[in-house]
Amino acid sequence: MTTLEPDPAWSDTRGRALRDLRISITDRCNFRCVYCMPKEIFGQDFVFRDRSELLSFEEIERLARIVVARGVTKLRITGGEPLLRRGVEDLISRLAALRTPEGEPVDLAMTTNGSALAVKAAALKEAGLNRVTVSLDSLREERFKAINDVNFPVARVLTAIDAAERAGLGPVKINTVLKRGVNDDEILELAEHFRGTGHILRFIEFMDVGATNGWKLDEVVPSAEVVERISARYPLEPMAAAQPGETAKRWRYVDGSGEIGVISSVTGAFCGSCTRARVSAEGQLYTCLFAAEGTDLRAMLRSGADDEYIASALTAVWSARDDNYSEIRAALAPGNRRRIEMSYIGG
Ligand code: SAM
Ligand code: SF4
Ligand code: SF4
Repeated sequence: MTTLEPDPAWSDTRGRALRDLRISITDRCNFRCVYCMPKEIFGQDFVFRDRSELLSFEEIERLARIVVARGVTKLRITGGEPLLRRGVEDLISRLAALRTPEGEPVDLAMTTNGSALAVKAAALKEAGLNRVTVSLDSLREERFKAINDVNFPVARVLTAIDAAERAGLGPVKINTVLKRGVNDDEILELAEHFRGTGHILRFIEFMDVGATNGWKLDEVVPSAEVVERISARYPLEPMAAAQPGETAKRWRYVDGSGEIGVISSVTGAFCGSCTRARVSAEGQLYTCLFAAEGTDLRAMLRSGADDEYIASALTAVWSARDDNYSEIRAALAPGNRRRIEMSYIGG
């Protein structure tokens, strides 16, 4: 295998480097969250990708090795539901063995709905996973079941969060997507629940990804409102970003009982510092969450192309990148673009 030199010129048209790769490893999910995989579309008849269409672990490892040699330092495994992919621990151990040109391991994280995490947390840690983010939109049993739309009990996700922390996958981040009139009355309840636990609760503005979730701007709960509502009860103060390109704005409780984050994808675009690319389960590369077109990496990986060839193709795609969807969202006519679904690209 060729040794690749890190490429300092690997930046896009706005000078943004590629640092963070999100890899979806399955398009399947055992939940049918109403805003992500609504049953009307992802029902019994929906045809998911065949196993042979998905990148194999060898292919993912190779791709990851190529980008890590070029400056990527963070890998996040997502889906669909990543824990549904058989042998996921094997993939984690392959990725955990990668080293940056400086000889450092990569920061290896996973986003999961938590449904299978309680049983898998220890094995994932053992395999080399560093951190986990668990999605949780409500603490109220009936509401949680209505959102996941498969009757999955919230207690099992809460147990999984604690199991992940105990297994050493913490601090566990909890991602809550807020939707006006659906769960915005739980902001304080959620904050209270996770205050003082060491877990980091993050509120995400509901985004207009995909074409199936019926997004409307008035359903977005602005992050400023979230901070204001929590701070009125438990005073918060802003924290500096831990790393450049961080999507969440961090706030800590003045009384020392931990921190929260807010991800203002709608009201506070962070395209200027977006160093992230995404690979779908079947190997399409997307340079923006709102991209309409991808680049077929699987075809390259399966064509006999060597690492140098794939790296130059990636350089060509990344250096032409000018994505800034969130900055221009307001100026775009609604529905003017075909967009890929969140369950396909992985968030
Ligand atoms: N199944 C895993 C999970 O739920 O964590 C990983 C994939 S899921 C697509 C990744 C994240 O995207 C979840 O936290 C989910 O809440 C979030 N998400 C899905 N649709 C969204 C939307 N329209 N706006 C904001 N976040 C969304
Ligand atoms: Fe599945 Fe995650 Fe989408 Fe919910 S948000 S349907 S858990 S992929
Ligand atoms: Fe990055 Fe695209 Fe989101 Fe902007 S809209 S922050 S470019 S993923």
